[in-house]
Amino acid sequence: MRVYLDYNATTPMAPEVLDAMMPYFSERFANASSIHSEGQRARYAVEGARESVAGLIGAKAGEIVFTSGGTEADNLAIFGVVAADGTARTKTGGASPAPTDTSEGGARESDAASGASGNGARHVITSAIEHSAVLNACQKLERDGVEVTYVGVGADGVVDPEEVRRALRPSTILISIMHANNELGTIQPISAIGEIARESGVAFHTDAVQAAGKLPVDVGRLGVDLLSLSAHKIYGPKGMGALYLRAGTRLHPMFYGGHHERDKRPGTENVAGIVGLGRAAESARALLGKSAELGESAADSTSRIAAMRDRFESTILEMVPQSRVNGDRSRRVANTTNMTFAGAEGESLVIALDLRGVACSSGSACSSGAVEPSHVLTAIGLTPEEGRSSVRFSLGRTTVDAEIDFAVNAVREAVGHLREISPSYRKTAAVPATRR
Ligand code: PLP
Repeated sequence: MRVYLDYNATTPMAPEVLDAMMPYFSERFANASSIHSEGQRARYAVEGARESVAGLIGAKAGEIVFTSGGTEADNLAIFGVVAADGTARTKTGGASPAPTDTSEGGARESDAASGASGNGARHVITSAIEHSAVLNACQKLERDGVEVTYVGVGADGVVDPEEVRRALRPSTILISIMHANNELGTIQPISAIGEIARESGVAFHTDAVQAAGKLPVDVGRLGVDLLSLSAHKIYGPKGMGALYLRAGTRLHPMFYGGHHERDKRPGTENVAGIVGLGRAAESARALLGKSAELGESAADSTSRIAAMRDRFESTILEMVPQSRVNGDRSRRVANTTNMTFAGAEGESLVIALDLRGVACSSGSACSSGAVEPSHVLTAIGLTPEEGRSSVRFSLGRTTVDAEIDFAVNAVREAVGHLREISPSYRKTAAVPATRR
């Protein structure tokens, strides 16, 4: 038996998505920018998909820019907003600067940023638990002279909106805070941050790659100006994503070429990929209960997954001493759990579980192979050793109870085995299991 519990890394394409895409690889191959009938048919498919993606997040079709995935959507949002802002400037409106809070859970600032910036450098606020698509883009901004504040989180793995407010300066031009964290599943208070952004007139981006399809996402209610999506996390194709760009938000393109995507993202449209993302968005929307098309309401599908995840966690906590769950257990997407097993090295555990038939991940998929502990786990206060002894399990639409039973058993065996062969693990374990 093989049990796949790594749906946050990627999902299989849903059958209806593959069916919808197939014709666009062969008989409907035309370029969507061609004016002949074949081209117009492709254009029609692209615009239909745009409507579907917009429908998933409560946007207008004209506010959707197709990209090659979540990474590109994040980069386009961050570099695009900063580039559109031009060079040094002084804002007249907005919140007044407040002293930087460097206490526990407080913000970390780039070197140039100690104190209010009187040098005219632009300022961006993000969090310490973002995906590398955002974090590394922000580090590049820093190298280019933009000041960045990385707002910290507590042990719960949730950003405090007041930290974001405190980080604001007159020179702040962008806030980028993710919606659901890919490693912990924790849900960030996006609408509260959206309000702060609106009050201060700062553009607000959220990386909703791990939230879309798992939570109702509505750009109006969230108060975001930009939002990133990725098709392969919602049972669509890899290499396909979208950026929501609220009408009126200023954004410069990253690439130059033709006039595709209203000049925001040139390049011949990936029609099959776009159609796949559109179909995946429709299914996700249906499953979230906005339509009864697939017969299972949001409450049913989400609570079924949450019940399995919770049973998985609680059985492991009971059966495996010195195991614990990371991050806030109530403010989480339904499918994710991140667990630490003292004395069992995460990469070794992933391999041991793989050999027992279970696919999971140590840290985020995009950083697997790295020996460094996950930045998300260190941000919530885990020691490097604890961080390296942690594994993420993420369930999917087709996960069933029998797979959970199988996986629980595999975890118990694999952790037991690794602890037996670990020279450092003290089996004196008089220490009771720590649970968060
Ligand atoms: N943002 C988050 C939160 C993610 O989890 C991922 C992928 O793991 C990405 C961005 C990158 O998306 P993509 O793989 O489509 O480039």
